[in-house]
Amino acid sequence: MRKLNAYEVFCEGYGSERGAFLVFHYTVKEAKKIAWPFARDSICDNYIDMRVREIPDAPWLFEEMKSDKPQVIESPRSCDICERWGHSRILQDGICGSCHKEIEENKKLVEKFQNEIII
Ligand SMILES: [Zn+2]
Repeated sequence: MRKLNAYEVFCEGYGSERGAFLVFHYTVKEAKKIAWPFARDSICDNYIDMRVREIPDAPWLFEEMKSDKPQVIESPRSCDICERWGHSRILQDGICGSCHKEIEENKKLVEKFQNEIII
């Protein structure tokens, strides 16, 4: 059996500003084809403007799958802070790994700053 890949489908010119779909399929070509009926009513006006980017090494995205068949996820779960998806896992609290890291780093900075003031 062929293995499904995760793809981000968006519209050239608009970027992901107008939204991007998460598509599971076998090839870029097939992903684009399956996404088009959804995209033409929302994120993209022209088939030729549609761009498909494979998202490798993102096993957590497969948790969004509603079945084991090729499919389009129009609104993948995104981070409550940066509103992105596909770059790192979104944790239980709705915040992605990258934002968590940033929050931790800011905490350390604040602590360092506070310590310096006390001294
Ligand atoms: Zn985030």
